[in-house]
Amino acid sequence: MPVAASHRRRALPDRKPDAQMSDNANKQIVVQKYGGTSVADTDRIRCVAARAAAIHAEGHSLVVVVSAMAGETNRLIELGASVCPDPHDRELDVLVSTGEQVTSALLALALHARGIPAVSLQGHQIRIETDSSYGRARIKSIDCSRIRDAFGRGQVVVVPGFQGVDEGHNITTLGRGGSDTTAVAVAAALEADVCEILTDVDGVYTTDPRVCPDAVKLARVSYDEMLELAGVGAKVLQIRSVEMASRYGVPVHVRSSFSESEGTWVVPVEKDMEDVLVSGVAYDKNQAKVTLQGVPDRPGLAASIFGRIAEAEICVDMIVQNVSHEDGRTNRTFTCDAKDLGDVTRRVDAIVADLGLEGSISSDHVGKVSVAGLGMRNHAGVAAKMFEVLAGEGINIQLISTSEIKISVVVDLDDVDRAVQALHRTFVTTDDAAAPARAG
Ligand code: ASP
Ligand code: MG
Repeated sequence: MPVAASHRRRALPDRKPDAQMSDNANKQIVVQKYGGTSVADTDRIRCVAARAAAIHAEGHSLVVVVSAMAGETNRLIELGASVCPDPHDRELDVLVSTGEQVTSALLALALHARGIPAVSLQGHQIRIETDSSYGRARIKSIDCSRIRDAFGRGQVVVVPGFQGVDEGHNITTLGRGGSDTTAVAVAAALEADVCEILTDVDGVYTTDPRVCPDAVKLARVSYDEMLELAGVGAKVLQIRSVEMASRYGVPVHVRSSFSESEGTWVVPVEKDMEDVLVSGVAYDKNQAKVTLQGVPDRPGLAASIFGRIAEAEICVDMIVQNVSHEDGRTNRTFTCDAKDLGDVTRRVDAIVADLGLEGSISSDHVGKVSVAGLGMRNHAGVAAKMFEVLAGEGINIQLISTSEIKISVVVDLDDVDRAVQALHRTFVTTDDAAAPARAG
């Protein structure tokens, strides 16, 4: 069974707090979330019911958050597009939220079939209140009173992930992968002892094992490191769920739904975490790079260029500006998601024309490779070592950016795998494969 981690935390606003405490100190409040592959068909849903039943049998209070069956959300999006080429976001949310409604009812039924009292409670029934940004809504509050009442009756509560309601009772969804965030938010609101994310991988790895077969599973990783690793393509958890877990101090345990083995704990910073220079190497092959040429070097230009890109809700990642040439002009390069490149190019063409720039060049044949670790906060030399390793591989670095605990480089797409392998070999793998490189 999951064990509670000690930590400070603030409760997510629960509209009707209930002071009721468990009489038995060993009883925990557990939130589990099962992803799409874990509920892909009725056999697997029965397996989930068996696992939930075991926790219920130990006397713990359990909320199970479910995703839609694997592939279902995509199928529903395509269905919407097939009747309307440009579907309204509000109706799309009504449509795609049904995937999770189906699995929540099926899991409650599968629990009933085992003789376990269970109730499904939809997003509006526990008032997972969000803002009104359809398709990427943010959770503002949850009313846990019905969940606590169900606990009082000894019921397992099944909650569909991904969905909420706004102030006007419209159905909203939380963005792709949003069931993770539902689970963490419910765990925060209930002050649960643990939020288990049960998925088709058995934890968070030091890098993608498909690229580096010697990648190792991390036992514990801090929220901050996880955010850096998730933000650069480690797709295990929705980024927002990690932000929410960090804000409320929710201990998250990422583990396999197909085995009982321990996975990776995502937790607040612990004492010896800063001894590890690099805890993971991440990469993202879905990147694009755009250079604006001959940008006049004067105040206001960056604001107007990036303002016009932001208007289209396009997220820009790295931004690099060169020193200006003698003619007072400079080049400015930024990166964005490859999927946004078409949109970005159209906007950039208009910006070039309107502001009288010299031109632009773009490419999506690039990828980003990053190393992240808390130890970088206090130790110099990681960047130099990283560049040396890449130089040794003959890999050209196109762009560099850093944060307190991460260094990212943009390289040619064909060099990404080799860069990841070399960096992992240098920073993570040692003779003892389970011990990441220690700070000196
Ligand atoms: N079903 C949604 C998706 O596919 C939400 C989730 O599974 O987390 O993105
Ligand atoms: Mg997911």
